[in-house]
Amino acid sequence: MIFGELDITITRCQRKTVSIFVERDGSVSARVPEEITKEELTAVLQSKEYQIHKNLAEWTQLNAQKIERDYVNGQSFLYLGRNYRLQLTNDEFKGIKLKSGYFIISKINKTKAKTYFIDFYKEKLREKLKPILNRYKGQLGVEPQDVKVMELQHRWASCTSKGNLNFHWKCAMAPIDVLNYIVAHELVHIIHPNHTKAFWNDLDKIIPNYDKQLQWLKLNGAGMDL
Ligand SMILES: [Zn+2]
Repeated sequence: MIFGELDITITRCQRKTVSIFVERDGSVSARVPEEITKEELTAVLQSKEYQIHKNLAEWTQLNAQKIERDYVNGQSFLYLGRNYRLQLTNDEFKGIKLKSGYFIISKINKTKAKTYFIDFYKEKLREKLKPILNRYKGQLGVEPQDVKVMELQHRWASCTSKGNLNFHWKCAMAPIDVLNYIVAHELVHIIHPNHTKAFWNDLDKIIPNYDKQLQWLKLNGAGMDL
């Protein structure tokens, strides 16, 4: 059955309670009592929704290393939260083009695909960051020393004790709302270095739905790789 954005395989069997599993392939299945009605089942799933997403996030994390992308026609790549398919063309050019909903790379230069993607994300992220930084800098009354887009280990972004902000180029894969959250998060760190209550309070003032963005990162973060 379809539950939210999940497609859950339901197996009815002789049991009293509902149990839900994330299978090895990442699909979700539930074993449910034979006589349970659709309404009852929906209610149970609703009550377990958070747990299901948590288990799925764990599964994604565990399988993150296994996601390896091939630079072949049709392979999808994230940009600002949307998937775009790759198209290889006979035209000869360097770099990567985003055109009519496709990422386009020259077949001849396919071996450099990964570098092209990273360069693309870096350049786009620098562009996207500017207006977001300006907006929240004003709201918070802070000024970062320096802003860099780079490859970071195990994190999306960081704020140094000197007030320099670093962003992983991967942030360009996230939807704009999530990017807003990441930027605001780091800017609030200029005021509060640690994740104290005061930190979250100030963040909440400019990103009231920040937990939704956090959840997106938890669920999708591991899959955001090249
Ligand atoms: Zn933080």
